[in-house]
Formats: sequence, structure tokens, C-alpha cells
Amino acid sequence: MNDHDTEKMSGLLVSSGFSSVDSVEDADVVLLNTCSIREKAVHKVFSELGRLREIKANRANRSMFIGVTGCLAQHEKEKIFKRAPCVDLVMGTAAIQQLPKLVADAVSGVGRVIDTNFYPDNHLFPSVIIQRRPTAKALVTIIEGCNHACTYCVVPTTRGAERHRPVADVLAEVRSLVEQGFCEVELLGQNVNSYQGGCTFAELLFRVTEIEGLEWIRFTTSHPMDFTQDLARAIVTIPKIAPFLHLPIQSGSDKILRRMGRKYTSQEYLERIGYLGEQRDKMCLSTDFIVGFPGETDEDFEATMSVLERVRFDASFSFIYSPRPSTSALRLPDDLPENVKHERLTRLQARQAELTFQSHRREVGNILPVRIESHGPTELGHWLARTAQWRNVHLENNENRQLPFGRLVDARITGAGPHWLRAEVV
Ligand code: SAH
Ligand code: SF4
Repeated sequence: MNDHDTEKMSGLLVSSGFSSVDSVEDADVVLLNTCSIREKAVHKVFSELGRLREIKANRANRSMFIGVTGCLAQHEKEKIFKRAPCVDLVMGTAAIQQLPKLVADAVSGVGRVIDTNFYPDNHLFPSVIIQRRPTAKALVTIIEGCNHACTYCVVPTTRGAERHRPVADVLAEVRSLVEQGFCEVELLGQNVNSYQGGCTFAELLFRVTEIEGLEWIRFTTSHPMDFTQDLARAIVTIPKIAPFLHLPIQSGSDKILRRMGRKYTSQEYLERIGYLGEQRDKMCLSTDFIVGFPGETDEDFEATMSVLERVRFDASFSFIYSPRPSTSALRLPDDLPENVKHERLTRLQARQAELTFQSHRREVGNILPVRIESHGPTELGHWLARTAQWRNVHLENNENRQLPFGRLVDARITGAGPHWLRAEVV
């Protein structure tokens, strides 16, 4: 979502006469579009600002304007100027369309500029302006904001309540992307399953699949509580929907899930995975885990490990709980020693690495369509591609053919590593 906001911001700047440069040293305006989901992301921003401050200070005869945008800006507002005095501009998540005016003001020398107001119609951003990165898959917003209130999560504060893009807008954007040559889209929302822009999410998927020329449709993210049988049926029956589901569980312990405000039990989560039926084996299933949430006992953590074993996720993203400002989990006593949190995370990630490797090895020998994601071979001589299950493929191209960027080619999977599949063009 953040990447896609950056594409919107690039488009706005290009429309107002800016062009992009390859290095920060050559830039007149530098914007950091930030994430604040975990403390680590925030640290990265301030350390990057330290680097930019040096570059700015060493500029002899040209000025440089530095802006901080996105979730951190939305949350910290003016405080950013105090903590990083080199910053000239602060813009929140919902104020994106104000960017050209803010940059013009900053450049004109009026002093520091800030807009962290909440513009509730930012989900209606005109898609013609978006300047997409050269990726094979195009991102499409369907919902902004989140109506859940998970106790650890800063997103409802930084992005506000849900706003749903009308179906007609979503379909028009996807049609135009196909005309521009994209064959794959990813529908974006904090919780796509709660879509209400004129139909349900399952219906939206059906309507998007009717668009001719589109080959694969992805979506992210799904909240398990809103994952319906209709949606599962759509995923397993519509060939154009990529066989990949990211369904974050966070914890396998019902006590911890309750404390997190996730509104489901681990049993209910497993039932929802069950909606996929036998097709589950053909899909890649991934999840998110938070380890070391306040009050997590050894027993609670074992419950997480046991869900990992039962579902045998093909991939997962796991993080140690990071206390975030303005979240209700801050009130929970967090007295688990850091080394215990790290040990748990290491154990979970080690087991996941084995499961992912096994899941990759099962593909060896198969012939699969893969989408070419690089414009040429890497330094190691292979091309980058992705399967429909979103697995990384290192593609050998022994005949040195020019492979068509963004298009599907058939590949025979010849080997597997923990993070990639090796394959050759057939
Ligand atoms: N809307 C999605 C998640 C968006 S945030 C959902 O509810 O599933 C992406 C992931 O970041 C979450 O799934 C969670 O695992 C992680 N995350 C969010 N807040 C966190 C925090 N305070 N500490 C650690 N991980 C966090
Ligand atoms: Fe955050 Fe929960 Fe909303 Fe996901 S569903 S964005 S974790 S509040």
C-alpha cells in the first residue's frame, strides 16, 4: 500500500513538471514515504534523515527540500520538524493530493509546510495520474483505512476508517491497466474482504475476472473474520485468481488472540482455511505472526507453533511485538525478557524455513507458467520470474533468448532453495 502511495506521489510530481533522478545527490526534492507499523521502520526513517541532512548541508549552490510523508508523518505531525530539523515538508497519508501545492510552497521559501489533515475522499485518487514502477504486476487500491481495532496496530490511527472505492472505478482502472499491457493486478486494502464499494469482495473478484486480457488477479490483505465461504469458492473456482492466500493469524493462542482484539479463535481460523477444501494443496498459503505479545507464555507460544505445524504454511512473515503509540496494547504489562522473545522468533522462523523449503521441493519436476519479472538476466545469469503462487523463480535461459517482460512462459522446475525455485524455459 505504501509502495502504491509512492506511485501516486510520483505521478503528482511528474504532472507538475518534476522528473525523477537516479541518485539522491542530484535531487532537488527528496521525499521519504514512511511506514510506522513497527518501531524498526521508524528508526530507519530517522537514520535515513541523518544521511540526507549531511547531503543537504554539503550542497554548495543548490538547495534541497526534504519531505517526510506517509504513516509516520500522519502520526508524528510537527514533532518530525523537532526531531529532524532538516525536514521542510510533512504530509500525512490522506493528504496525498495536496503534494504539488505543498512542494511548491516549500520550494517558494515560505518556510516549513505541513498537511496532516484528513481528506476522506483520498481513496478516489485519479488513477490516470499514477506513475507505476516498472513491475509486471500493477497495484490497485480498493479500500483505504481499516475498521478493525487490533490492540497492537497503528494503522487505524494513521489511515483512518474504511473508505471503499466504487466498483465502476476499480473496473475502469483495471481495464485501462490491461490496455497499457499489464496482465496481472493486485487489489489492495488493509482488509479487502470487507469491501463494500457496491458489491461484496467475492462479487468484485468475479467482475474483475471478466476483464479480457487479464491473466492473474491477486489481493492483499484478508482478515480471517471476514473470510467467507463465498470468497473461498471464488478463489478456488476462478482460474484467473492466483492460487495464493495471505491470511494473517498473528498467534495460535486464543488468549493472545483475544488480547490482540482479533475476534477469532485459532479453531475458527482453521475452519476458514478448511473452506478452501482440497484445492488448498494446490495453493500457496502464507500468514503473519506476532511473537512475544504481552502476556505470551511458553504455552501460548507452543499453541502458535502447533498451528504452524497443522496448517504447514508455505510462507510466513513473523515479527516480535513492537509497542506502538496510541494503541491500546500499550496498557498491557510487557514483562517478557527480550532474549525469550528472540528465541521464540528464531525457533518459529527456523521451522518456517524448513516448511517453505519442503513446499518448494514439491514443485521440482513440474512445468508451470511463470511471469517474467526482469528486463534481462541478473549478474548471476538467470532471469527473475514468479509462479502464480508468488514463488520466486530463477530462470535459466540457455538459448539466450530475449524473454518477454511481464508475460507468461512455461518453465520446468529443476531445483529448489529455501527462497527460490530454479527453472528452465521449455
Ligand atoms: N491488515 C492486515 C495487516 C496489516 S499490518 C491484517 O490485519 O492482517 C501487517 C502485519 O504487521 C500484521 O499482520 C502484523 O503481523 C504486523 N504488525 C502490525 N502491528 C504490529 C506491531 N505493533 N508489532 C509487531 N508486528 C505488527
Ligand atoms: Fe491493523 Fe488489525 Fe486493521 Fe490489520 S485488521 S490493519 S492488523 S487494525
